[in-house]
Amino acid sequence: MPTAELDTLLHDAELAHGHLCAGQILGVRMAVLACRILDIHDPRSKQSPDRKRLVTFVEIDRCATDAIAVVTGCRVGKRALKLRDWGKMAATFLDLARPIPPAEMGGAPDHFRALRLVALESSKDRARELFPTDADGAPFTDKNQQQMRAYRDLPDRDLFAAQWVSVHLPPSEFPGFRGARVTCSVCGEGINFDRFTLTPDSDAPARALCRGCADPASRSMCRPVRAETLTRGAHCTCTRSFSISRSR
Ligand SMILES: [Zn+2]
Ligand SMILES: [Zn+2]
Repeated sequence: MPTAELDTLLHDAELAHGHLCAGQILGVRMAVLACRILDIHDPRSKQSPDRKRLVTFVEIDRCATDAIAVVTGCRVGKRALKLRDWGKMAATFLDLARPIPPAEMGGAPDHFRALRLVALESSKDRARELFPTDADGAPFTDKNQQQMRAYRDLPDRDLFAAQWVSVHLPPSEFPGFRGARVTCSVCGEGINFDRFTLTPDSDAPARALCRGCADPASRSMCRPVRAETLTRGAHCTCTRSFSISRSR
């Protein structure tokens, strides 16, 4: 891609992420490559007819994720960026313009053609081999600087492996979908569609339960603690940054 175009995207990624790093460059390159292969043009522009074609699944919660969001225009808040944190520097770019006919999927509906790209671990070795020194000829002492240099210039084939995949995406997971909200029958908090379970009690009317109330053991992230515990110095990460009402 033209250097000026890459520079613009890197600049925007730096603004969004707070700094420029090797992960940002890799993320920008990955998203640019995906758009090129899928023939998607300028997806983040409001004028682009392609701007609502992508739903991107990222497999890591690191720097590259922010860069992918900048290039693709996919955002968590628009439901177009979905985090599946499997700790891999990989992303799957689903093209909503490429539905797969159910007949090709054994009758299963709601599948789409998608491109999965994974960053090659060997790219780090290539960076060391090809860029032992910086622009002044001095040996790189900072691995991040060396990788930043290399990830700008290495060809796509040295950076990524690609595969076509099918991804199941029912209409309720589409970016613009709006479904009914229900109230959890235990904690009283509102819950979006499909994010609750119904009590299996066959004798009584079914009640909606949020995931935390349906499976209290899953609440390791956000477990209510007694207010006195908080004042003693222990903390629950969920309540640290805002005022705390007394918990039960
Ligand atoms: Zn970073
Ligand atoms: Zn609840």
